[in-house]
Amino acid sequence: MVQWSVVQAGDPVLRRRAAEVPPDQITSRAVAQLVDRMWRTLDAVPGVGLAAPQIGEPWRVVVIHDLPEFVEHYTRLQLLEREREVIEPYVLVNPVISAVGYETRTHFEGCLSVEGYTAAVERFHQVDLSYDDLQGHQHRARVGGWHARILQHEVDHLDGLLYVDRMNTRTLCTTDNYAELADLATGEAVDAVTGGADSGGPPA
Ligand code: ZN
Repeated sequence: MVQWSVVQAGDPVLRRRAAEVPPDQITSRAVAQLVDRMWRTLDAVPGVGLAAPQIGEPWRVVVIHDLPEFVEHYTRLQLLEREREVIEPYVLVNPVISAVGYETRTHFEGCLSVEGYTAAVERFHQVDLSYDDLQGHQHRARVGGWHARILQHEVDHLDGLLYVDRMNTRTLCTTDNYAELADLATGEAVDAVTGGADSGGPPA
């Protein structure tokens, strides 16, 4: 019985810059097997995104999906506030993102490699994305809302960064405590956690 576990904070693999997959390796069996392990791990946990370093493999590979069963327990208002919608599963090899403008959004996010916690993180609202798929075809897209947040979180993993490096530290919550606040709008949840003493602004 294989254990599909996610590497936790403190393991140096999460703090190194992951390497680009060489172009002639993108369609290789080794990369296909890596991606297969990543999907199995993400399904077992479960979660919306996983970067290869999170299973101990220092390569620039990410898998993302936001399944109907993940989004269906949110109200329509919450989904609108978070700009969250279903994302069909896809694989990103050597993804590159760049911010579109300076507009940002702040919402709570967590990480499979920092179990048990969540915090408010300011992210760019829109990013331009390019990546290769497993057939070696390049794709480009402009992505906004929650999908853009997932992309920024996952590409950070490839650069050795965790959300705790970017969070508003005063908003750090255990997931149990956050569960009590999950129905609130993000601004209200930030006020509740910080006693109203924090605007939920950018981390210092
Ligand atoms: Zn993460």
